[in-house]
Amino acid sequence: MKRKKVVLLGSTGSIGTSTLKVAQEIPEHMEIVGLAAANSAEALAQQAQETGVKHLAIFNPEKEAELKENLDSGVNVYTGLEGLVELATLAEADMVLVAIVGTAGLHPALAAIEAGKELAVASKEILVMAGELVMEAAARKGVKVLPVDSEHNAIFQCLEGHAGGEKEINRLILTASGGPFRTWPAADLEGVQLEQALKHPTWEMGRKITIDSASLFNKGLEMIEARWLFGVEMDKVDVIVHPQSIVHSMVEFSDSSVLAQLSTTDMCFPIQYAVTYPERIANGLKPLNFAELAKLEFEAPRRQDFPAIDLAVRAGTQGGTLPAVYNAANEVAVDAFVDKKIKFTDIWKLVEHTMDTHPWNAGKTLDTLIQADADAREIAEAWVAQQP
Ligand code: NDP
Repeated sequence: MKRKKVVLLGSTGSIGTSTLKVAQEIPEHMEIVGLAAANSAEALAQQAQETGVKHLAIFNPEKEAELKENLDSGVNVYTGLEGLVELATLAEADMVLVAIVGTAGLHPALAAIEAGKELAVASKEILVMAGELVMEAAARKGVKVLPVDSEHNAIFQCLEGHAGGEKEINRLILTASGGPFRTWPAADLEGVQLEQALKHPTWEMGRKITIDSASLFNKGLEMIEARWLFGVEMDKVDVIVHPQSIVHSMVEFSDSSVLAQLSTTDMCFPIQYAVTYPERIANGLKPLNFAELAKLEFEAPRRQDFPAIDLAVRAGTQGGTLPAVYNAANEVAVDAFVDKKIKFTDIWKLVEHTMDTHPWNAGKTLDTLIQADADAREIAEAWVAQQP
């Protein structure tokens, strides 16, 4: 395959650093040509020195001077949202990989599509907020959207070569580790402490997604993400708990036959495949040893005790502005939980309250979705402020 030139947005995070590892592993197939972060000026400068990348963006303009201090001459630095868009439309780039936590990557992702770049998406929040618009824009421009999230990358692989369309798909089955509280009695969930929520049993990830995994909002967000990425109705998106995180997801077809994708638990697998698709490239990743795997277990999610899944079904089924509201309220709730302003179980209550309160509309334009996101944050923040 041709060596792919990739702009990496969110390079200092968990997915960002794994992506840099992949690039190091397969240099003849992948070259990073742009890096972006929000505030981590020192880490970004170090990445630029190690990789020789000449185009950087730092979202917070106040960090520009610190970044430049640590750089050699000849490196271009862009700032703010315009800086991210500048990087996402870089003439030499073939692909933009969006690994920014939250929705800040939405504008750059849309700009990359308009510029005809392939889009690899880790930032599930942008597909939850505006998945319909992103997929429509990509279809209009003939641009590929490649999922980096391990579950969606797995489903993408299971659907490869399948031309039958939605009518031949019974269910997309997303696997969930169940998080650290999978076996906790419901009555104990109210007392969950931040440090406990930050201990994921199988994956090492950024802070927000780790808390989302504990509350099962991560799975709810992924259900809506899957609906848009694969163009299926919400009732075809299912979840099964699989504590070992070896089966990354599955597709059940109309003949009840199921395809699954398996690997060891390492995000470098889906990141690499999103970049090298449709080719498979040998790497140094650990293969599965089936004889050593003690067992693969599956169990139904505890939907009543972890209401994030049912709220996602409601948001994804009703559509319009509701998925954007679900996502924005959850972002406020996670921040409030991290700041110890609300209890763990309040995360679900806050999102439900915001979904019930916000004035729903069909959310057909980017402006209406951005407005719904802002309104939801206002409603959610007001609720947090009322808590004792
Ligand atoms: P991290 O918190 O580890 O990293 C977030 C990255 O985004 C950092 O580089 C951060 O920069 C950057 N960032 C945040 N806001 C902005 C902004 N406004 N402009 C530019 N850069 C910004 O998150 P993860 O890597 O864990 O997750 C990233 C995304 O990928 C999330 O949407 C998550 O749901 C998804 N994902 C993550 C997986 C994982 O294994 N971690 C698995 C599947 C999906 P800075 O360092 O300066 O703050």
